[in-house]
Amino acid sequence: MGSLHTRDPELAAMLDAEVRQQNSTLAMIASASIADPSVLAVGGAALSNVTAEGYPGARYHPGAQQFDQVEDLAVRRAKQLFGAQYANVQPHSCSSANLAVLAALLKPGDTFLGLGLDAGGHLTHGSRASVSGRHYNALSYGLDASGRIDFDRLGDLVLEHRPQLLIAGASAYPRTVDFARFRAIADTVGAYLLADISHIAGLVAAGYHPSPVDVAHLTTTSTYKQLGGPRGGLILSGQDHMAPGPDGRTPLSRLMQRAVFPQSQGTPSPASIAAKARAFAVAAEPAFGETARLIVLNARALAAELSALGHRVLTGGTDNHMVLIDTMNVGLTGVVAERALEECGILANRNRIPGDTKPPLVTSGLRLGTNILAQRGMGPERMRDCARLLHTVLSGTRPRTDTEYLTDPALVALVREEVRWLCARHPLSIDTTAGVPVDLIGVGT
Ligand SMILES: *Cc1c(COP(=O)(O)O)cnc(C)c1O
Repeated sequence: MGSLHTRDPELAAMLDAEVRQQNSTLAMIASASIADPSVLAVGGAALSNVTAEGYPGARYHPGAQQFDQVEDLAVRRAKQLFGAQYANVQPHSCSSANLAVLAALLKPGDTFLGLGLDAGGHLTHGSRASVSGRHYNALSYGLDASGRIDFDRLGDLVLEHRPQLLIAGASAYPRTVDFARFRAIADTVGAYLLADISHIAGLVAAGYHPSPVDVAHLTTTSTYKQLGGPRGGLILSGQDHMAPGPDGRTPLSRLMQRAVFPQSQGTPSPASIAAKARAFAVAAEPAFGETARLIVLNARALAAELSALGHRVLTGGTDNHMVLIDTMNVGLTGVVAERALEECGILANRNRIPGDTKPPLVTSGLRLGTNILAQRGMGPERMRDCARLLHTVLSGTRPRTDTEYLTDPALVALVREEVRWLCARHPLSIDTTAGVPVDLIGVGT
């Protein structure tokens, strides 16, 4: 075979550089985590060579015996991990999962409600930029003055517009989502409730955020964000899995099976499904629970430290892994803050915040996440260092325009050095060849 370094040195060098970058930067990307090396390895398994449309035991191609077992295993583990009655592990992403749910429960033009994009919602929750906002009558609810979901207004909107579906969940919301309250509101008009836990699936699995699985009719999630799985999506359902669909008879679980295949996807991705199975097992281990605990403690500590340093932390704190700050409070747009930090080896992404007056590529805020800090084994006491580094960069950056800025080279060098030190002190367990843990893949044996 030869190693990738001999067969394709160009690509291998890029993948190696990526590993070096991940090891030596302080990633505070709220939507990212570091997959266990075994998850990465399984994602590259030769199982990927299998083509098999359909579901276990009902494929449209021969030769899927192993894949059937793997998919059954992934479904079993997903149900076990989340205490669900139904799981579909085939969605290629949470976006596909959400669109499949919308297509199954709504007719074009039907009304649904999701959290607005500026309020922290996701594109697939009804943004005009997404199919979800074009094919349906998508209305949005928002936040109250304290930055929390405005349930009173939501209740009024639901009574006024009588949506067929309500979506709970967010991409940028630092507080606990009260799924039960969403369900009570959905029930006032007999609407379905979809809970999208893409950002908090790890906390839900580990018991650090209330689970929506038995509260919402359906739950969707990305598998790569906080779950540490491969790129992909997952649909779950709990006690409502046999509730009738819009036709009044077909159970939701049956509808979801069809909604994913054949309605919105073709062949599943067998190796990704195997990697999901592996990730669900990793997420059931005690070490994952310990990391989830640290994620929450770290986010609280980071929010408190940043507040103490004079930053405007949205909602005044956090309940989950995420801290949102208003960078205009220190005179920087989100994009300038993001770029200045990246120059110093700190990764955090710009994010629109409620009432944002800057365009989406500029923004007025920054979204920080503690998933990877916790995976590095950092505890809350380390968040003082992280907050100080963030503060040093943000307060030492002089904006020239909304997108251009000046930094002090000495400051950049100093922070970079501290970042390197912190990363070396709290190493990631990425042990790979060209970014691929080749030795773990059972090829040719
Ligand atoms: C990221 C995200 C998605 C989309 O997930 P992909 O797997 O990247 O398509 C959907 N919903 C929410 C709330 C998200 O944060």
